[in-house]
Amino acid sequence: MKEKLLNVMEEALELIKQCNCNDEIEKIRVQFLGKKGELTSILRSMGQLSEEERPIIGKVANEVREAIETNISDFKEALAAKEKEEKLKNEKIDVTMPSKYPEMGRRHPLMQVKEELETLFLTMGYDVVEGPEVDTVQNNFDDLNAPDDHPSRDMSDTFYLADGIVLRTQTSPVQIRTMKTQKPPIRMVSAGRTFRFDEVDDTHSPMFHQMECLVIDKGITMANLKDAINQFVKQMFGDEMKTRFRPHNFPFTEPSAEVDVSCLKCKGKGCEVCNNTGWSMELLGCGMVHPNVLRNCGIDPEVYSGFAFGMGIDRVTMVKHGINNIRLLFDNDERFLKQF
Ligand SMILES: [Zn+2]
Repeated sequence: MKEKLLNVMEEALELIKQCNCNDEIEKIRVQFLGKKGELTSILRSMGQLSEEERPIIGKVANEVREAIETNISDFKEALAAKEKEEKLKNEKIDVTMPSKYPEMGRRHPLMQVKEELETLFLTMGYDVVEGPEVDTVQNNFDDLNAPDDHPSRDMSDTFYLADGIVLRTQTSPVQIRTMKTQKPPIRMVSAGRTFRFDEVDDTHSPMFHQMECLVIDKGITMANLKDAINQFVKQMFGDEMKTRFRPHNFPFTEPSAEVDVSCLKCKGKGCEVCNNTGWSMELLGCGMVHPNVLRNCGIDPEVYSGFAFGMGIDRVTMVKHGINNIRLLFDNDERFLKQF
């Protein structure tokens, strides 16, 4: 029986040497050590042995079992080490691979300019006021002294949502709302989206952005208006920038003017961008608040006067960054937006 046991051990160790994977070694374990395994069945027949033989054969049987078990676990350890090494060899880190970090977003250039403008006016002592994008014809046209036949009231220029309700065509109704609810002195700016029935081209979009400024107090004159605009332009675009006022006509101000600013590219020297004039196209519209507008809001024009000016944030953004097509601001193409 001892010989039988040693033969089983030899056979088992030889098979283990030929193993290549965990599945194969598991088969061998079952074949020799399992409940119906070869070693197990030999041990079961030990009952037939004599009292003297039993402990001797029992000892050999234990040694055989231990030898097979040790060889199996050695094989498993060696296999695991080999697999780990191969994995490390195949998973070399390529430091030239592009990173998987998500890219950080950023503020849209229009919002950057809007916030820059608001911050600038806040430091100059103005309040920043918000207003609704849907407003009444009363606030958007009537109280701003727009004549009944003014072309901007036409259906072909303005989005009417219901009788007497429009998508605001300018941020000026926020001035009306402020004057109706607040007593002078008033110093406010308001910025936001505005809507007009415009065809899209390089400089027009049916949705655009405006910023308005309004000052009402006793004794406010055109000199205060020019000073405020000059201060604003120098702070926003640089000390060397000059302004030029040209007479204009708006229903809500009298007198009214359009304001040109030195060309941002050449700072007034003359270049191809400004056709050698040294001036950028008009940047903002302004004027002294019309007495009718004050009266419409319950403010006595005999006591108070004021000025207002407004500009397109889209236009300021385009001038500031040298953007030549307004569509780029609304296409939201990341390749364009992440430059700012
Ligand atoms: Zn120029």
